[in-house]
Amino acid sequence: MLYRSTRGAPGIPLSQAIEQGLAPDGGLYVPERFPQLDLRHFSPNPLSEFAARFLAPFFEGDKLAPKLNTICNRALSFPIPLTEVNSTTAMLELFHGPTAAFKDVGARFLAECFADLGCAGERTILVATSGDTGGAVAAAFHKQPGLQVIVLFPKNGVSPLQKHQLTCWGDNVRAVAVNGTFDDCQRLVKEAFTQSRQTSSWSKLGLTSANSINVGRLLPQAVYYASASLQWQQTHGTAPGFVIPSGNIGNATAALWAKKSGTPIAQIVLATNANRVVPDYLQTGIFKAATAINTLANAMDVGNPSNIERILSLYPNVQALQQDVQAASVTDDQIRSTIRDAHSQHGLTLCPHTATAFYVRGKLSKGPWILVATASPAKFTEVVTPLVGQAPTPPPALQALLGRPTHSVESEPTLKALEQALAKS
Ligand SMILES: *Cc1c(COP(=O)(O)O)cnc(C)c1O
Repeated sequence: MLYRSTRGAPGIPLSQAIEQGLAPDGGLYVPERFPQLDLRHFSPNPLSEFAARFLAPFFEGDKLAPKLNTICNRALSFPIPLTEVNSTTAMLELFHGPTAAFKDVGARFLAECFADLGCAGERTILVATSGDTGGAVAAAFHKQPGLQVIVLFPKNGVSPLQKHQLTCWGDNVRAVAVNGTFDDCQRLVKEAFTQSRQTSSWSKLGLTSANSINVGRLLPQAVYYASASLQWQQTHGTAPGFVIPSGNIGNATAALWAKKSGTPIAQIVLATNANRVVPDYLQTGIFKAATAINTLANAMDVGNPSNIERILSLYPNVQALQQDVQAASVTDDQIRSTIRDAHSQHGLTLCPHTATAFYVRGKLSKGPWILVATASPAKFTEVVTPLVGQAPTPPPALQALLGRPTHSVESEPTLKALEQALAKS
């Protein structure tokens, strides 16, 4: 299996695509073709065994292939339960990892891949975060030999607990509070990559990416869609649809990759917050990037989602895309009322991101629908507690992080300023 760039650069092996992150032509790596898996003979549990079987064709011929079992065992070492809300709705709980958001799945898998690839000289992981990626990547790569991690986060765009999680590592992890939005952080990463290809202070660092730019993060995310839909189909006899809280639409891309590989998935519905470029695109057929606005579901505050390139590369035109994918935007008021109602009517405490999926599910046909629960509500106490009347209990892994001291530097949203900030950190 080879991986080609969405902008045309020819196929290369998986491990090279993982090491490069972004393709040299500025595009994103995608599989050249999708395997047609017959999942009837697969068991969805245990997840790490299912993952190794599901991902084997994606690793075929690559030097990481012999390590795939070990990578899956180490990376997918926490539960991902599928819990039924009622006979036509279930929740896929992706937040039981070390930093309590679904980003742990991709970040841990990527870290295991890098550990197996070894390092020729210094390597620096430069990552932009809208709130959860940075913490997950920092946790996964903390103290990994030969690796530096630089996390860029929007100074006023993350919750206090998220900020703590981004800035509490030290050692090989540095955190930079950027005076701008997530899109600014993402742009800085792309600019640093471009600079690193010419002679510059960036070219010495051996830059690579751990954002959902990196194909090594998306592949393991396809796994939980495949196992959850298989599990649903084996118990209920029907193929479920998924409602996915979406921002940079990496998680939704992974769901589409699972569907293209033969997984029994009906429709895929993207729930966005008030940043509505993707719903607007699906309605009008015109993609118009916008400036991100701050919402309660901050990890989805994205105005120029980079993975749109990957989704477009799967379909010949927007009409074909509309057959498989719908999208709807949810306001902050609707997020608040959903968190309140889910608690009083179903006894569920939702994070603001998961609430967008819950809200959108209410507008959809009978189903069955699997709602993707992307983060623990305990990461967003300042939003959730006043709405449900009690503070959600933080999972033990989060509690442990809260005891660590924090450190970060600030930077204006330009590459020059970032270089200066890093020199001081
Ligand atoms: C990152 C994130 C999202 C959005 O996922 P994308 O892959 O960027 O679409 C949704 N919810 C939470 C909690 C997140 O951390």
